[in-house]
Amino acid sequence: MTNCPTPGRIEVITGPMFSGKSEELIRRLKRARIARQRVACFKPDIDLRYHRTAISSHSSQTHDAAVVTPTSESLKAELFASNRIHAIDVVGLDEAQFFDTGITHLAMELVHLGKRVILAGLDTTFANEPFGPVPVLMALADEVTKLSAVCMVCGQPAIHTQRLGHSQELVVVGAAGLYEARCRTHFEPFLDEHHSEQLELPQTEVLL
Ligand code: ADP
Ligand code: MG
Repeated sequence: MTNCPTPGRIEVITGPMFSGKSEELIRRLKRARIARQRVACFKPDIDLRYHRTAISSHSSQTHDAAVVTPTSESLKAELFASNRIHAIDVVGLDEAQFFDTGITHLAMELVHLGKRVILAGLDTTFANEPFGPVPVLMALADEVTKLSAVCMVCGQPAIHTQRLGHSQELVVVGAAGLYEARCRTHFEPFLDEHHSEQLELPQTEVLL
C-alpha cells in the first residue's frame, strides 16, 4: 500500500425548508471543532435581519459564519485571501442553493486540496424544480444526507417546501408564515390562498 495524503470529502445536506439542514450543518461543524479541526463557515448575504455573523436554525442553534455575496467567485476570494485556505480543514456553507454553478468547481478544488466541504441547501424550489447547483453537488458528493420535515397538514414526512401566497419569484426571503413543509399528497406548487399553520418558533431565522 502506498502512503496517500488524507483525501478531501464533499458532504451535502439537503431537503425542504424546516427539515433540519442548518441544524445538521451546525452539529457537524461543532463536532469538527471538538476534534480540533479548523472550521470556516459561510452563508450568503440574502437576508441579514437576524444573524449577521452566524448561521442559525429554526430551532435557534447557531454557529459563527462569514457572510458572502452568493457567487462562487466571492466565496473563492474569501477562502483563498492571504492563503487563508491553508489554515482551514473544514469548509461549511449554508443555503448553497443561492450560489452559481461555479460552486461545484470550487467544491472540487477544495476537495483536491484535502478539505472536508459540507454544503447545506434546498434540493427543490417552491415549484418543485431542482434548485440551483444543489442537484449537481449531490451527484458529485461523497455523502448525501436528504432530510425530511414534518408535513404541516398531516404530520407525515415532508419533502416539499410549500410557498404560501401568490408570488412566483424564485426567491422570496422568509420562513414561517411564507413557507411550510408539505408531504407529496399535500404539496400544491401553485397555491392561491392558504392560512399558514407552520409552527412559529421564537427567534425564527429568515433565510429562505
Ligand atoms: P432548515 O435549515 O432545513 O430549514 P432548520 O435546521 O433551520 O431547518 O430547522 C429545523 C427545526 O425547525 C426543527 O428542529 C424544528 O425545531 C423546527 N421546525 C419548525 N417547523 C417544522 C416542520 N414542519 N418540520 C420539522 N421541523 C420543524
Ligand atoms: Mg437552513
